[in-house]
Amino acid sequence: MRTKIVKIDEFHMDQEAIREAGEILRSGGLVAFPTETVYGLGANGLNEEAAAKIYAAKGRPSDNPLILHITCMEELRPLAAEISPRAEALAEAFWPGPMTMIFKKTDLVPHTTTGGLDTVAVRMPSHPVARALIRAAGVPIAAPSANTSGRPSPTKAAHVIEDMDGRIDMIVDGGEVGIGLESTIIDVSEGTPSVLRPGYITMEKLRKVIGTVTVDQASLGQMAPGVRPKAPGMKYRHYAPRAEMTLFRGSEKASVRAIRKALAEAAAEGKKAGVICTEESFDCYEAPVKKCVGSRKDPEMIAHNLYDVLRAFDGEGVDCIFSESFDDNPLSGAIMNRLVKAAGHRIVECQE
Ligand code: AMP
Ligand code: MG
Repeated sequence: MRTKIVKIDEFHMDQEAIREAGEILRSGGLVAFPTETVYGLGANGLNEEAAAKIYAAKGRPSDNPLILHITCMEELRPLAAEISPRAEALAEAFWPGPMTMIFKKTDLVPHTTTGGLDTVAVRMPSHPVARALIRAAGVPIAAPSANTSGRPSPTKAAHVIEDMDGRIDMIVDGGEVGIGLESTIIDVSEGTPSVLRPGYITMEKLRKVIGTVTVDQASLGQMAPGVRPKAPGMKYRHYAPRAEMTLFRGSEKASVRAIRKALAEAAAEGKKAGVICTEESFDCYEAPVKKCVGSRKDPEMIAHNLYDVLRAFDGEGVDCIFSESFDDNPLSGAIMNRLVKAAGHRIVECQE
């Protein structure tokens, strides 16, 4: 299949290109497009065959449900069997934006889209290109991240091209995304709302709006054997660069010291090692490859750069990657959840 690649500037949208992408989506094709979180791989979420194409293009396990994207509350009502006052309050506070809510589904939503579940995940993105495309398609758009399953999510069109060229109908290049991490997922389908995946909308922000919010333990990256995460996708290895990655946890000083030791050991074994570090620690390492994710003073920048840095290691031919941790900021829940998965739970606790 030839993949058409079109550039769309969010400030001067090419209406003809939007119309064409909307038509492809409506008629069952696949279009990758930018959102404010990461690039999504879109299909008509009410069409079983179209949704099935997403799983095939990504190599995604069929029990890992898709998020439906809408543009306004009127579009939510036909999809969600029940919308609680707390869900209404969250929508009012955070939509359009990087939050996904889980509802009991209506019969309109096919089980192919929900991975066989009786609940449905819905998000209202704020990115102007995403909104224009959903409106042009005239249907809810199922859109997981536009990466091959298991790889880091795409934050630039170049990442989508790496993974999806030749596998989908169209890629809309809207430049680099803003946030760079996937949405916060909160289950509002029953009882006390529960966060299934941490994201840019933090627990503190959610609690300010609806009071008590619990956390699905599996989302914290400390999944005990036998614990089933409520978001099926959270059980898979994810966000991973090709080389084996190890995460070093502890104070900044202790982890720098432990990574320096690991680098020396890797060099002695003839291994090419890479380091994920910060502006603050960059000069502390002598390593074949060093990638800086930003300053510890700017966690939003760390979130924004993370996937690009993880992907960039694939072009460096490293044998192993050592990463610092980011446990000391408001986005640490979201950032560490991704890093723990990228490292396949390979974690070294560093002592002072
Ligand atoms: P992605 O779109 O690739 O970022 O992944 C979507 C995430 O949403 C996965 O972790 C899914 O397991 C989760 N998800 C989607 N629908 C549901 C649902 N109905 N219940 C729980 N989790 C869901
Ligand atoms: Mg994903």
